[in-house]
Amino acid sequence: MKKIILLGATGSIGTQALTIVRDNPDKFQVVAISFGRNMERGRAIIQAFKPQMVAVWHSRDKATLEAEFPDVKIFNGMDGLREVATCPDGDVLLNAVMGSVGLLPTLDAIEAGKNIAIANKETLVTAGHLVMNAAREKKISLLPVDSEHSAILQALNGENSERIKKIILTASGGSFRDKNREQLSEVTVKEALKHPNWNMGNKLTIDSATMFNKGLEVMEAHWLFDVSYDAIDVVIQRESIVHSMVQFVDGSFMAQLGTPDMRIPIQYALTCPDRFLVPFEKEFQITDFSALHFEKVDYERFPALKLAYNAGKIGGTMPTVLNAANEIAVAGFLNGQVAFYNIEALVENAMNRHASISNPDLDTILQVDKETRAYVKTLL
Ligand code: NDP
Ligand code: MG
Repeated sequence: MKKIILLGATGSIGTQALTIVRDNPDKFQVVAISFGRNMERGRAIIQAFKPQMVAVWHSRDKATLEAEFPDVKIFNGMDGLREVATCPDGDVLLNAVMGSVGLLPTLDAIEAGKNIAIANKETLVTAGHLVMNAAREKKISLLPVDSEHSAILQALNGENSERIKKIILTASGGSFRDKNREQLSEVTVKEALKHPNWNMGNKLTIDSATMFNKGLEVMEAHWLFDVSYDAIDVVIQRESIVHSMVQFVDGSFMAQLGTPDMRIPIQYALTCPDRFLVPFEKEFQITDFSALHFEKVDYERFPALKLAYNAGKIGGTMPTVLNAANEIAVAGFLNGQVAFYNIEALVENAMNRHASISNPDLDTILQVDKETRAYVKTLL
């Protein structure tokens, strides 16, 4: 029985993780959860999964839940997230919160010796060196939930990293892949939230449309697989069937394919190297796809990806700035304060005024994250 601490239980990944637990009561138990503000869904999860510990964001929600669930330990705010992340009974932290708010709980869980299944890519982008070093020191396993990185993990299975020539991340191209830059000036939030292949949380769906998501994933791959940025490529794979590939030095490619359903990589991050059934409504048939398409990325069309490579190569605190600026810009777009094509401009502006600090410690990262958010808010 694997005991799971699930951060971000009410979100897209959180909800799918809970279906895996529900479908496999002999294999998994949820011992602690966190959610932000969605009290209706959060309450239903507490009733169904009976966690020992729960963290919510607001203190008023904590008080409400304490009255409703006297047997459950309820916490709130960042302290609450950190408390729940180290729940003594938990074996593995499945971190599915959105944004760099997931950093401190991840570091705490590693310190407490928990294994980590990480969906929360912003944490690796903002402080990859700290997270990976802590994981190595504590000898815990830190496995990706992101479908591309799960594909790479599977393709690499047993391979020595010296044999890798390239990691090739696939990208769908997002909601506006068939629009040119001029056409982006007219797009609405509603259109941006219609992803062609995946059903995800709002922030990630916007990140897919700008390709900041792929940029964050390039940095995520750099940290998870210890490869240089020059050895990471991105290609457009319109069908989202090939989830990513590794090219080896002998010219051989290994790819992982499957239906675009996050339950596969979520479950694999919890069971690796073991595998078991995921119950699909409709079995994936490779013959449904008579052709799979691979296209080069146009970096002029998707400047976000170029910004992310630049941030990654500069390193230090620059990825923290890119991530924090993007989080604020996307929130601004979602609530109507920012035009879609200005998301990239805001991030670029924040990066241009920042002098990267190399090998930053945790306090420096938190400070830069906070300052960047405050600065970008003044531009909205
Ligand atoms: P959602 O927006 O659907 O869910 C986010 C979860 O985090 C919710 O439970 C939300 O709570 C909680 N949350 C958000 N902000 C805060 C905060 N400030 N403090 C505490 N809790 C918070 O996101 P997704 O599930 O789409 O994505 C989660 C992470 O997984 C992201 O890092 C994303 O990049 C990554 N990921 C997601 C994939 C997907 O298919 N969805 C695929 C690959 C990676 P509430 O809603 O209750 O406020
Ligand atoms: Mg992904």
